[in-house]
Amino acid sequence: MATLLLLGSESIGRRRLAGKLADDPRFVIHEFEPCYRRLTPGELAAKVEAAHRDLTECRACPRDCGVNRMTGETGTCNTGRHALVASAFHHFGEEDCLRGWNGSGTIFFSLCNLRCVFCQNWDISQQRDGLEMTGPELAAVILRLQREGCHNVNFVTPEHVVPQVVEAMAAAIALGLDVPIVYNTSAYDSIESLRLMEGLIDIYMPDFKFWEPGTARRLARASDYPERAREAIAEMHRQVGVLKVGPDGLACRGVLVRHLVMPGCEGEAAAIFEWLATALSPDTYVNVMGQYRPEYKVAEKPDRYDDIDRRTLPAEVDAAFFAARQAGLWRFDERVLPW
Ligand code: SF4
Repeated sequence: MATLLLLGSESIGRRRLAGKLADDPRFVIHEFEPCYRRLTPGELAAKVEAAHRDLTECRACPRDCGVNRMTGETGTCNTGRHALVASAFHHFGEEDCLRGWNGSGTIFFSLCNLRCVFCQNWDISQQRDGLEMTGPELAAVILRLQREGCHNVNFVTPEHVVPQVVEAMAAAIALGLDVPIVYNTSAYDSIESLRLMEGLIDIYMPDFKFWEPGTARRLARASDYPERAREAIAEMHRQVGVLKVGPDGLACRGVLVRHLVMPGCEGEAAAIFEWLATALSPDTYVNVMGQYRPEYKVAEKPDRYDDIDRRTLPAEVDAAFFAARQAGLWRFDERVLPW
C-alpha cells in the first residue's frame, strides 16, 4: 500500500510539473545531454590543472586574497586546500523544476566568501564546521546522490571552492556522472572561476542580493558586490542562456535567478529586475523569495540593524512581484506567486 501511495504521488508530481513548466516549446529541450559529457579527457585534465594553478595564488572569488591554498593558507573564506562539506542530501525545498519528485541532490559547502549579517545558514557559512573532502571523496558523494535518483547535483555556496569542484567533477565524470549540475551561488563570483566552470555547469542559480554598493557594504562587507554580481550573472547567461526544461518539466540548462526581498528594499528589488529584463532577457526565470527573517548578527545586535530586524511584509513581496512584472519579467517560480 505504501509503495502504491508513493508511486501515486510521484506520477501526480510528474504531471503537475510537466503541465506547468513544459507547456511552452521555446523553453523545452527534448534530447538533453549534460554539457560536461562533451568535454574530452584532455580538456578536463586542462581544467584540473588550471584549478590547481588558481589555488596557488587564490583569486577564485572577487576577494582576490592571493594566498597559496595548495599549502593550506587561507584567506577571507577560511578554506584551505580542500572543500568542507556541511551536508549532502535529497532537498525538497528547492524550486519545483529542481526538486521534481526525487529531490535535488544538494551539497552544502561550509564557509562563505560573503559576510551577510542576516545569514539564515550562518552556522554553516560562518563556522568552520563540516567534513573536509578530497576531490575523489567529493566525487563519491556526487555519484551517491545520482545513484539514489536525485534529478541533479546542486552545489550550494561553491564560490570559494570552484577549483575543488572542478577536481571532484573531473573524477565523477570519469566514473559515469550524467545528471545536470546546479551552481547555486550568492553571485559573488569571479569571471575567472566562471570561465573554469564553463562546459561543466548546465544550470546557474545566482541569488542577486543587493543593488546598492552601500547596502552591500553594510550588510555583506562587499561594496563591489552589485558590480561583480552583474558581471557574473551576465557571464552565466552568456554560457547557458535562459532556463530550459525537459518535457517532464525538470530543469536542464540555463540561468534561474533568485532574489530575497529584504525589508524596506523594494527599490533595490525593482532595479535588479529592470537589469535582468534589459541586460539579460525578459524570459529570465526568477524566484522572488519572501522568506527573509532576521538571523545571525541582526538577531544578536538588533539595535544596529533595526531597519532589517523584522520579517519582510507580504505587501513588500507583492510590490517586488509588481516591479518584476513592470520590468517585463514573466517567468516566475509559481509556488509563491501572489496571484
Ligand atoms: S576563494 Fe577564499 S581565499 Fe580565494 S579569493 Fe575568495 S575569499 Fe580569498
